[in-house]
Amino acid sequence: MAYDIDMIKKVYSQMAERVNTAREVVGKPLTLSEKILYSHLWDGSAKEAYQRGKDYVEFAPDRIACQDATAQMALLQFMQAGKKQVAVPTTVHCDHLIQAKMGAAIDLQAANKSSSEVFDFLESVSNKYGIGFWRPGAGIIHQVVLENYAFPGGMMIGTDSHTVNAGGLGMVAIGVGGADAVDVMAGMPWELKFPKLIGVKLTGSLSGWTAAKDVILKVAGILTVKGGTGAIIEYFGEGARSMSATGKGTICNMGAEVGATTSTFGYDESMDRYLRATARTEVADAANEIKEHLTGDDEVYANPEQYFDEVIEINLSELKPHLNGPFTPDLATPISEMGVKAKENDWPINVDWGLIGSCTNSSYEDLTRAASIAKQAVDKKVKAKSDFGINPGSEQIRFTAERDGLLKIFEDLDATIFTNACGPCIGQWDRSDRKGDEKNTIVHSFNRNFSKRADGNPNTHAFVGSPEMVAAIAISGRLDFDPTRDKLINEDGEEVMLDEPTGIELPSDGFAVEEDGYVPPNEDGSSVVVKVAEDSERLQLLTPFEPWDGKNLMGAKLLIKAFGKCTTDHISMAGPWLRYRGHLDNISNNCLIGAINAYNKKTNFVKNQLNGEYDGVPAVQRAYKKEGVPTVVVGDHNYGEGSSREHAAMEPRHLGVKVVLVKSFARIHETNLKKQGMLGLTFDNEADYDLIQEDDTFNFIDLEDFAPDKQITVEIVHADGSKDTIKTNHTYNQPQIEWYKHGSALNLIKKQNAA
Ligand code: SF4
Repeated sequence: MAYDIDMIKKVYSQMAERVNTAREVVGKPLTLSEKILYSHLWDGSAKEAYQRGKDYVEFAPDRIACQDATAQMALLQFMQAGKKQVAVPTTVHCDHLIQAKMGAAIDLQAANKSSSEVFDFLESVSNKYGIGFWRPGAGIIHQVVLENYAFPGGMMIGTDSHTVNAGGLGMVAIGVGGADAVDVMAGMPWELKFPKLIGVKLTGSLSGWTAAKDVILKVAGILTVKGGTGAIIEYFGEGARSMSATGKGTICNMGAEVGATTSTFGYDESMDRYLRATARTEVADAANEIKEHLTGDDEVYANPEQYFDEVIEINLSELKPHLNGPFTPDLATPISEMGVKAKENDWPINVDWGLIGSCTNSSYEDLTRAASIAKQAVDKKVKAKSDFGINPGSEQIRFTAERDGLLKIFEDLDATIFTNACGPCIGQWDRSDRKGDEKNTIVHSFNRNFSKRADGNPNTHAFVGSPEMVAAIAISGRLDFDPTRDKLINEDGEEVMLDEPTGIELPSDGFAVEEDGYVPPNEDGSSVVVKVAEDSERLQLLTPFEPWDGKNLMGAKLLIKAFGKCTTDHISMAGPWLRYRGHLDNISNNCLIGAINAYNKKTNFVKNQLNGEYDGVPAVQRAYKKEGVPTVVVGDHNYGEGSSREHAAMEPRHLGVKVVLVKSFARIHETNLKKQGMLGLTFDNEADYDLIQEDDTFNFIDLEDFAPDKQITVEIVHADGSKDTIKTNHTYNQPQIEWYKHGSALNLIKKQNAA
């Protein structure tokens, strides 16, 4: 495991001075989120107050975590930086590539076979560059981070959207794209728009069937899937303090479902208890010494309306258990109303599966509460009507749960214990009971329930609930079952009710594990050879992109004029292509295949100006590349919105596209293009988009004078020889122009390292 106590102590040693300075600069009491943000500025102590939702600010995160799917390209890129070691503590977790089917032992063996080259690659790169490596089966990234690395007041980034889970231990933990992680690994600052702040005041305390999960199910219902966008959600109040740290983790985890940048809680005794129970006494001791800086100022929580951009209040004593879904996590329904709502909407009432676990809900408390329900079914002779599946969040939690007899209780209900991995939560589920597109219902304690997410079937209605509610519903086999009211019939034909769940926050005998699956890196990794097979179809070492020749770009052909929305999904589709995430050339065969061609309104069907024929975008672009013909992609508004995946910038660059010229960019994608050495331009006059014709050639006639704030002139030569000359804008500052000159940001870093 090896958390970095020296790093944590360093963060804490600076915190008081930085928080006090920030309070003076901002001129008012501070929320916890502000304390963490201002104490992690790249340039040290605060010198100015940042405008929330407006200013872009550079930060210095303390840690990075990567999961196996996203780590591949991130690490391939990092290898280009010419560094000996990662600049901040980093871990890699193998959890997404393991399919759930028969049960842990067999499934893990199968994954180790089918994805061995990816795992071997990740392990060897980790070993070489000082990265902690967690083997397949060791656990799910966010549970492992919470158990080992998260610390109050820290800032981390991770290449997975549920990195936010670490807010349960009072961190500001944010999910990012691989390119951002590479920057920080390579010793560069990380940029973020200073977030807005949403305060959630929790009063009362949880009881009965209501769990921490219901807090976020309720919040999701209030904020909806976009309500938290660009904001940190900060929870406070007596209700917050009364909850376990892992319960807080569940709430923060699902903050991703309302689009929040992250969520967090102030340091309290529950965090102290969790740190000590997970063998981090020295972290708890260090946190206690500066605890006033690890929570919001009293005045902020006394008058939250004055300090947060929005405030929500939830009384936990009145909160009812919920089920959210289907198809969206913000469709919140109290259990008591589910029967009526399911009927109205024609949702299948019979429940096929109850799935418990994932990074969202596999704490000891979760498992004990769910087991307390499962045990009643066994004791009261009620046979479970649905199938049960459990995917523990880590080997530590699995081992401890097995030792304490919790898994046995589920096994007595014929549950399948899957690998400590994502499994059904990310569609890695070979579901044997239903094939095809039949309409059916499942309930789970995961976080996302979008169409097809669990099993690939668009007609699977997935509902999200607490582990104990999932257990109760799976036992009853009915979506409309309300355990506070409804009876079950047992094997003797008697009517029985399930009593309220009971849980244990932390194991009385402590956590235990025999083989946690952690592989520490070599102290000196210089002799480690990174393993990538020459003929691999999933992995490919990167070749540095060519530097700019310093000349004007002349004779570039139009590859595609994209019409309407063009997200990173349109530019680099997910789904089956995820398999090639570590192989730039292979994944480039999905380049822009989702973009709509403005001239025929078709996808993946563009004209090759060299022969006049139509073909798929990647094929046409490869033909241009073969002939050494540069190309231009033209786009509409907010080009590149959506996920921050760097492939959407790397693929066109790899295939030879030189310029992306659009009405406007989504900012992250624009930055990703810059990092990859592409020219990203916007029309000075948006109407010029209409001037572009299918057979156009572009000359960038003053690119040689590329400079900050200086427009670039583009001559558009039409097929009939006529010309339009337009002005385009860019947002490159001088350092970013250096990236362009060198062919990519990483090329420049490498050069600087070599100097
Ligand atoms: Fe993502 Fe699900 Fe895995 Fe958590 S368990 S990291 S939400 S796929």
